[in-house]
Amino acid sequence: MKTDVLGVLYDNVTMEEALEKGREILTGHKTCYCVTPNAEMAYEALHDESFRDLLNGADLVLPDGAGVVLGAKLLKTPLKQKVAGIEFAQNLLPIMAELGTRLYLLGSKPGVAELAAEKMLQQNPDLIICGMSDGYFTDEKEVVVKINEAQADALFVCLGAPKQEHFMQKHQKALGVKLMCGLGGTLDGIAGTVKRAPQWMIRLQLEWLYRLIKEPRRFKRMLRLPKFIFAALKKRMKG
Ligand code: UDP
Repeated sequence: MKTDVLGVLYDNVTMEEALEKGREILTGHKTCYCVTPNAEMAYEALHDESFRDLLNGADLVLPDGAGVVLGAKLLKTPLKQKVAGIEFAQNLLPIMAELGTRLYLLGSKPGVAELAAEKMLQQNPDLIICGMSDGYFTDEKEVVVKINEAQADALFVCLGAPKQEHFMQKHQKALGVKLMCGLGGTLDGIAGTVKRAPQWMIRLQLEWLYRLIKEPRRFKRMLRLPKFIFAALKKRMKG
């Protein structure tokens, strides 16, 4: 079931349900794409109709972040839980290993995908990683050819928003994969080149604060989070 949070139609699912949907797509025959909009992206979508359409055109829209969950609660349409993109991706790996899915990693700086692949294979020795490319390419078509030549079934697209969403939608027909997921900084997180917040901060819903302290240059971008909460409050007050 979809839940409308300021125009973005989220799938109201638990992590388990999201993974079940992922499995369904991986065993199906269609090329589907999954997006993981956080509050920053949802705020962007509020003012950018084409980006909103890109998000709502996805087969799976997962609420990445405590901000989205809080926004939904304020709007009195609560979501079951936060389903962070990085956790969804990591939980999907054993399923892919079981299904024999061929995974391609796209995005991040040169060398990061290789490091992330190493970590993924340590945890999931049966996983098939059929190829990888960094995210600083000039010819998109060449990348599409490489992914198809690798006979990938699944694609992690880690180019940052909105580049990754544009890439997935634009090449949906040309790509032979079944599932592609837009996952932002996930490869950095798995590789360990960008540290994730400690568990206690994640538990207290303070992951955003950790990121802000570690990467103060994100400050301007992160102002969208309080703006998103404010927009939800405003809508609630208007009834
Ligand atoms: N990136 C990329 N190509 C680009 C721009 C960005 O591969 O042209 C990568 C960047 O190296 C980083 C990711 O996209 O790994 C974006 O991470 P960020 O933390 O900004 O994304 P978020 O998770 O906040 O959406």
